[in-house]
Amino acid sequence: MENLTNKELEAELSFKKKNVFEEADEKELSAIFDYAEGYKSFLDAAKTEREAVKEGILLAEKNGYTQYKLGEALSVGDKKYYNNRGKSLYLFKIGKEDIGENGIRIIAAHIDSPRIDLKQNPLYEDSGMGFLKTHYYGGIKKYQWTAIPLALHGVVILADGSSVEIKVGENENDPVFYINDLLPHLAADQMQQPMSKAISGESLNILVGGLPVSDKDVENKIKFGVLRILNDKYGIKEGDFISAEISAVPVFKARDIGFDRALVGAYGHDDRVCAYPAMTALFDTESDAHTTLVILADKEEIGSEGNTGMQCRLLSDIIQEIATALGKNPVLVRSNSKCLSADVNAAYDPNYGEAYEKRNSAMLSCGATMSKYTGSRGKSGTSDASAEFVGYIRNLFDNAGVIWQTSELGKVDHGGGGTVAMYIANLNIDTVDIGVPVISMHAPYEVVSKADLYSTYKAFCAFCK
Ligand code: MN
Ligand code: MN
Repeated sequence: MENLTNKELEAELSFKKKNVFEEADEKELSAIFDYAEGYKSFLDAAKTEREAVKEGILLAEKNGYTQYKLGEALSVGDKKYYNNRGKSLYLFKIGKEDIGENGIRIIAAHIDSPRIDLKQNPLYEDSGMGFLKTHYYGGIKKYQWTAIPLALHGVVILADGSSVEIKVGENENDPVFYINDLLPHLAADQMQQPMSKAISGESLNILVGGLPVSDKDVENKIKFGVLRILNDKYGIKEGDFISAEISAVPVFKARDIGFDRALVGAYGHDDRVCAYPAMTALFDTESDAHTTLVILADKEEIGSEGNTGMQCRLLSDIIQEIATALGKNPVLVRSNSKCLSADVNAAYDPNYGEAYEKRNSAMLSCGATMSKYTGSRGKSGTSDASAEFVGYIRNLFDNAGVIWQTSELGKVDHGGGGTVAMYIANLNIDTVDIGVPVISMHAPYEVVSKADLYSTYKAFCAFCK
């Protein structure tokens, strides 16, 4: 470095983020744009965790994966998927490498997204309108969910135990649903409220009808009309809502954003924008050396609890099953495994710059973003990956030519957030967060960069390879 000018030396010594689009040649650019098309199709087909599992299985089967049942024998070369109750999915391929020594390479993303769930006794009518009562799912800004078209997706278990699927609002000719807001003319009081209070949880009632049946003897004419339609179409009675999971999600389809089409707007990027690259990286990498596992988890948005969330011991069980089938010690397998917790992060937004610490925020189009730690208030609630593991991943990505960046979520003490990383790290597995930066995270329509999506895919390919 002796012959360098100070300017050259400065460039050599300093760290600077790179814009993925700027660095890409023509071939890479078209790869970036092509890849986003497959992702948009996946988004439109998979708006709930159940639908994402179904789509995941379709893609897996196309790529030679077959269904795995716990307890089944496994051998090198096997490509399997485990469907956990239709709500979370484990995809794995068994490599040649000794997993007792090298462990399993794990990528864990989640496929549940913030939404509005129906209550168990939801249907009523009031003042000429039929409504469904709801309880929102995940961290939403409630005002964003009013006055937009919504679709209903879900499953109903009928009294006889049979199951009926519901999906209304996605087809052009379907009716859609709606949550009312107050007109500005009468909103003087509402507009004085803090945003967190302006729309209450109990006012998130979904408008589902307005046509009274013409029979004087019927007490609830609109409600009865809706029930009759539901019964004709699905065989549903009011009591069946008790054993149902029905969610309202935005009807919007994934669309390019901007004149130059660099960005994608969609509902539920968080976290399908990591789930899709995780799956496709697993399918697209030819290497038969590593044993690789991709997890599409449920319940991340509400704390990862339950038997479809990442706090469930299923991951530990599956590792144990794989280890036992290959004659290895599961304790050693876990201690030598590596995991990318694949979840989104907040992209720096100059319109709300005061919420971010710019030097340590994810910048749009600067690639997959790694977060050594998440959590809040003094790193509370994070597994905080070791410098050694971050160093390992850094080398892996750099050697594979991946443009990536690091970030933490917003300013210190301004909030924060968690992912599934800590639950996996708690199993004695080296884990670090990496994923796609998102604008307007948890809004009904979120934005990501096609460059970051593709960079994340490349990063996951490097990890699987
Ligand atoms: Mn997430
Ligand atoms: Mn989230």
